[in-house]
Amino acid sequence: MIAGGGSVVIAGGRLVDPSIGVDALRDVRIRDGIVVEVGEHIALEDGDIAIDASNAFVSPGFIDMHVHLREPGFPEKETIVTGTHAAVRGGFTAVACMPNTEPALDDPAVLRAVVAAAAERAKCRVYPIGAITRGRLGRELCDYHALQAAGAVAFSDDGSTVEDTALLVRAALAAAGEAPFISHCEDEGIKAGGVMNEGVTSRRLGLQGSPAIAEESIVARDCTIAIETRKRWHIAHITTAAGLDLVRAAKLQATHVTCEVTPHHLAFTDELVATLGSAAKVNPPLRTHADAAALRQGVRDGSIDACASDHAPHTDAEKSGDFEHAAVGFTGLEIAAGALAYAIEDLSLRRYVEVLSTAPARILNIPGGSLRVGSPGDAVVFADRPWRVDPQQFASKGRVTPFAGRTLPRRIIATIVGGIVAFCEDL
Ligand SMILES: [Zn+2]
Repeated sequence: MIAGGGSVVIAGGRLVDPSIGVDALRDVRIRDGIVVEVGEHIALEDGDIAIDASNAFVSPGFIDMHVHLREPGFPEKETIVTGTHAAVRGGFTAVACMPNTEPALDDPAVLRAVVAAAAERAKCRVYPIGAITRGRLGRELCDYHALQAAGAVAFSDDGSTVEDTALLVRAALAAAGEAPFISHCEDEGIKAGGVMNEGVTSRRLGLQGSPAIAEESIVARDCTIAIETRKRWHIAHITTAAGLDLVRAAKLQATHVTCEVTPHHLAFTDELVATLGSAAKVNPPLRTHADAAALRQGVRDGSIDACASDHAPHTDAEKSGDFEHAAVGFTGLEIAAGALAYAIEDLSLRRYVEVLSTAPARILNIPGGSLRVGSPGDAVVFADRPWRVDPQQFASKGRVTPFAGRTLPRRIIATIVGGIVAFCEDL
């Protein structure tokens, strides 16, 4: 990280900022952590740090609203330091971290410890997501007011579904305010121990499949709860065409329903399990060609609000061995932005920046997602330059990704967090 005495000027780039409706060559000056000037040509002053963005794009810093930092509890998988280092290499200036830690983020003191550790050691902004139920066990509600006061920006039992519908309705009614609930949608009974998508490939490989309805039934239930309780609701990592149609239908009745998708569910199908094995093992699982095509269309047409990595690092040992017992999920922060461009080649830059930045800021009601004068000085510079994914180069402790060896069409040039150059490929 570079501490500068003067200000940072990002010069010569094509600024794409949907929040202010700009898509044009613009320079950006950040001083004392705040955007102070956006203009056609900003003259450099003594002490300025200049970032050359010519032949590149400039946008509000990316915000990953679905990240597992593994701290507290699993430092061998990831830490706040390694996770946020991976984040800034991936263009992210803020991440929201999921509560499936040990202990879970179900208690104000645990949240405050994460916030304090992040303030001291993180390379980007960290926003914790509190648990919906104590220990994420689905039995006892958390104190949402206390969690919000301690820094929680949303509530989720991610990794698990709150199976007790009555309890979830009570949770929604108990939580006042604007912090959304985030649903992990997998009915464990229907899933019945499934380790990949149920379909031709699972049958051919002789693996227990998890059918689409395991996800869709919970999407339908939670959209209904959102509409009835008027609580803001966000469906995490949606994977099926029918599930997306359920969200579309809910949005017609309730503007406070949103959803996200991951780059891997946009790019890949369950056939990848046959060739990559546990490097393609994830929850919810990779689905079919028709599902991935529907998700890509959902990103283009705005039915899918945000793109999130679901960064879920594990040790190499946990990801090796036989498929059924291998850990679920993979690392993603360093490649997510490039992987989105890989998955949807024809995505407009405006939508690209919206789903990676403006929308997550809006959904979580956090600063960022805009380079309007007066906004936080969080920016990213990226370019259409192909690069090959080599997990050995990752800052994340996780080395396993289904994008390993793929050539992604877009890469991160520089990441500026609060006016500090947190990553720059030339330095
Ligand atoms: Zn999840």
